[in-house]
Amino acid sequence: MIKCISCKFATIDESASNSKWDAYECSNPKSEYHRALLNVTPNGEMLKRISWSGCPYGERKEK
Ligand code: SF4
Repeated sequence: MIKCISCKFATIDESASNSKWDAYECSNPKSEYHRALLNVTPNGEMLKRISWSGCPYGERKEK
């Protein structure tokens, strides 16, 4: 299993982003986290960095 931050399916969700913050969502339809925002905590805190741990369907980004 790899972390979302290293996963090629972690992509910017323009509609959830604002001028100061980029929202990252899981764009993998196979994942149970599909469409979830990966840099928002359960408390709704908007983080700069992706904090989610990942899922079994993650694939490493091309270098
Ligand atoms: S939830 Fe899984 S598929 Fe989605 S970005 Fe994270 S590791 Fe990748």
